[in-house]
Amino acid sequence: MSERAVYDIVCLSFLGAGAAVFVALFFIAAPYGRHFRGGWGPKFPASWGWLVMESVSSLGFLGWYLAGEPSHTGSAAGIALLILWQAHYAHRAFIYPFTRRGGRREMPLSVVAMGLAFNLGNAYLNARWLYELGPVPALGLNPHTVIGLALYAAGYLVNRQADAILRELRRPEEQGYRIPYGGAYRWISCPNYLGECVEWIGWAILTWSPGGAVFALWTVANLAPRARSHHRWYQKTFPDYPRERRAMVPFIF
Ligand code: NDP
Repeated sequence: MSERAVYDIVCLSFLGAGAAVFVALFFIAAPYGRHFRGGWGPKFPASWGWLVMESVSSLGFLGWYLAGEPSHTGSAAGIALLILWQAHYAHRAFIYPFTRRGGRREMPLSVVAMGLAFNLGNAYLNARWLYELGPVPALGLNPHTVIGLALYAAGYLVNRQADAILRELRRPEEQGYRIPYGGAYRWISCPNYLGECVEWIGWAILTWSPGGAVFALWTVANLAPRARSHHRWYQKTFPDYPRERRAMVPFIF
């Protein structure tokens, strides 16, 4: 079987799994963070869990970049896309886990394993297309580059700002929750998730690739139901929770 056929199978499997996950997460919140609970197998320190899950995105993408076709990897667009990917994932894997607050929180090993499998497949789908199986990456003064880059940058900034606001809600070893204010929390409960979705939609437009499209759909399928669970949790937990806030999309959802 050719690698292209394998790639298509992985793409379709991700799409099918993403649809199933989207439906399932409206009924079962993924058991980490505030939704952590027993019954999901052995536990693992949360900060190390984030490092293990997310580092495969950064390192896998880099590995497939290095193994790629020189005409793709040496192009200015190919290098720019590597930098953009790593701007998100090198931070998420190697810095974010150790700046989170919440003391010695744990997460189920099963969540770490699922995150790792997803991130490995996702790095493959994105990097192999860009650096081997697809056309030579090309960016320029055209709508998909401009719109894609603008969305990627806006999503990145919203995500980082929202995560920084959450971090400041706790002292280093504290585990409790407070109502976040400021930034896009004025309108929604989960601007970090909105930022993440916008960022990867921007990436999909920028790369115009099947891997990018699958990743953007997966991100929305994963985070929209979780934003709804967080939003309901806030409303139940804090009687004074701002009534006008929505879960993830201002004024709509
Ligand atoms: P959360 O918003 O649930 O939590 C982020 C951090 O802030 C955690 O350390 C959490 O602590 C803490 N926190 C959250 N709310 C409060 C509050 N009200 N008061 C005090 N502390 C709070 O995000 P996730 O952990 O789910 O995700 C982390 C990042 O990873 C986000 O940027 C997200 O976008 C990204 N992500 C991306 C995914 C994708 O599919 N691309 C999938 C999942 C996450 P605690 O852990 O104790 O709850």
